[in-house]
Amino acid sequence: RQPAFPGTDWRDRTAIRQGGVIPMSLKTHDIAIIGTGFAGLGAAIRLQQEGFSDFVLLEKSDEVGGTWRDNTYPGCACDVQSHLYSFSFEPNPDWSRMFARQPEILDYLKHCARKYHLYPKVRFHTEVTGASWDEDAAVWTVSGPDGAILRARKLVSGMGGLSRPAYPQIKGLENFQGQTFHSQQWNHDYPLSGKRVAVIGTGASAIQFVPQIAGRVARLDLYQRTPPWILPKPDRAIRAAERTLFRLVPRAQEAIRNALYWQFEARAAGFVVNPRIMKLPERWARSHIRNQIPDRALRRRVTPDYTIGCKRILISNDYYPALTRDNVNLLTDGIREITATGIIDTQGVEREVDAIIFGTGFAATDPIGTMRITGRDGRDLKETVTAKPEAYLGTTIAGFPNLFFLTGPNTGLGHNSLIYMIESQVEYLLQAFGHMREQGLRAIEVREKVQDRFNAGLRSKLGKAVWSAGGCRSWYLDEQGRNITLWPDFTWRFRQMTARFRSADYAIDTGRWREPLPRAA
Ligand code: NAP
Repeated sequence: RQPAFPGTDWRDRTAIRQGGVIPMSLKTHDIAIIGTGFAGLGAAIRLQQEGFSDFVLLEKSDEVGGTWRDNTYPGCACDVQSHLYSFSFEPNPDWSRMFARQPEILDYLKHCARKYHLYPKVRFHTEVTGASWDEDAAVWTVSGPDGAILRARKLVSGMGGLSRPAYPQIKGLENFQGQTFHSQQWNHDYPLSGKRVAVIGTGASAIQFVPQIAGRVARLDLYQRTPPWILPKPDRAIRAAERTLFRLVPRAQEAIRNALYWQFEARAAGFVVNPRIMKLPERWARSHIRNQIPDRALRRRVTPDYTIGCKRILISNDYYPALTRDNVNLLTDGIREITATGIIDTQGVEREVDAIIFGTGFAATDPIGTMRITGRDGRDLKETVTAKPEAYLGTTIAGFPNLFFLTGPNTGLGHNSLIYMIESQVEYLLQAFGHMREQGLRAIEVREKVQDRFNAGLRSKLGKAVWSAGGCRSWYLDEQGRNITLWPDFTWRFRQMTARFRSADYAIDTGRWREPLPRAA
C-alpha cells in the first residue's frame, strides 16, 4: 500500500522551477538504492520480502557484487569465515572453504540476485554522481554524468566505504614509464612472470597477493611503511560430508555461524573495553612470526611496535614464508622518489622495476568523493560531513530527509562480520519505511539533538579504544585524527539500538513539517 502523497503535481512545478531542464517523463520510484554489493542487495531482498516493491537499484558497473566484483587480485579472499560472512536469511551450505575466495563470494551474490529476482530491478551502467532533495515534492532527484536519472522518495546508499582506491602521493610517480596498477584494478593482461615488480603497501590486500605473485616474478621489492600484525589463518577445505550435513540439517551450519559470531564478538572486549587484553593475541602473533621466519633481522623488521588491533588484524599462513624467498626484498627505508625506471628509497638507493603495484588501500574516510548530494535548504553533504563526520546509528544525517546510509559513519568493524551490521541497518530501514507507510508520512529527518547525543556517546567510547590508544595511524582515522569509520562497541549492542525505530528521534513531514526545522546556516 502506497501512501497518498499530497502535491502530486510536483513534476510540473519542478520542471517549471528548473526551466524545464528535468524531463517530465522522469520516473519516480518509492525507493532508489545505490550499489549492488552486500548492502544494496541485502536491502533490496528484505524490502521485497516486506512488500516494498517499488524500488530500483543503481549500479555503475555491468554486474552486481560491489567490492567482490571489483577486487580480483590473485589470492583475494575474505578474512571472515564464510558461514558468518553471508546473509543470515540465505545460508550457503556449499561453501568450498572456511574462508571463501573472491570468485565464490561473487557467485554467492549473483545467486542471491538471481534467486530473489533482482536483476530486472537493477539499472546497470548507471553511475550516480549526485542527488538533490526537492523539498516541495519531498523527493530526491538522482543524477548521473549526463543529468537526472530518476526520482525517488527515499534514497538508500549502499556504496560502501572501501570502493575508491587510494594512490600514494609520491614525488615523480607520474614519470614512471613501466606498468602501474592498484590492487583493486588488477591488470590481468599484464604478464608478471619474469618481471621486476615493486609492491607498495603491506595491508590486507597486499598480504594476500604478495604470496601469489612472489613465485612468478623475477624480483619483488616490497615497500613496507608499517608492519601489520598477522595471525595464523584457520583455513581449510570444507569436506563433502560436511556440506551434505549443512544441506540436510541447516541448524548445524547455523550453530557454526553462531559459534564464529561469539568468538569474534569476544574480541571487542580487547578492542574497546580494555586494550590491555590485546597482549594475548599479540603473543600469539609474535609466535607466528617466530614459527614462520627463521632470520632474526627479518623478524625484527616485520614486528610492529604498536598494540595489536590498532590497525586491522590480518590473517595469513603464506605471507611470512613469501618474505623469506630469495627473490623477495622487504624494504623498510621508505620511498623518496619514483623515476622513469624505478624507485629511489630514502637512503638514495635506486631499484629499477618493470611494474609498480599499489596495495595502498582506499579513501575510506572520504567515501562521498566527488559525489554532490544536496539536502534540505541546499545543504551540501560533503561540507556537512567534513565539518561533522557523523550520522545517527550510522544511517541518517540531520538536514538530509529520507536519505539512508548502509555502512555509514562508525559502522565499520575491526572485530566481526560487516554483514551483521548491514543486516541490522536494513532491518532499521524496514521499520522506518513501515512506519512512514502506516502513518502516510512524506519524509522523516533525524533530529540534530538526537544525532549529537548519539555521537557524544560514541566519542567517549572511541577515546578509550585500541584504535586511538594503540599507538598507530590507520585509515580508520581521518586527517584530524577522528575515528569516523569503526563501531566502538559489541555488535549486538548496535543490533539492540537499531532493533526499534523510534519516531520521536525524527522530525516528520505529513505534507508539511510538523514543526519548524533548523535552517542551514
Ligand atoms: P590498507 O589496509 O589501508 O593498507 C594499505 C597499505 O599501503 C598499508 O600498508 C599502508 O601503510 C600502505 N601505504 C599507503 N600509502 C602509502 C605510501 N604513501 N607509502 C607507503 N606505503 C603506503 O589497504 P588494503 O590492504 O587494500 O585493505 C583495506 C581494507 O580493505 C582492509 O583493512 C579491510 O577492511 C579490507 N580488505 C578486506 C579483506 C578481507 O579479507 N576481508 C581483504 C582486503 C582488504 P601504513 O600502514 O603505514 O599506512
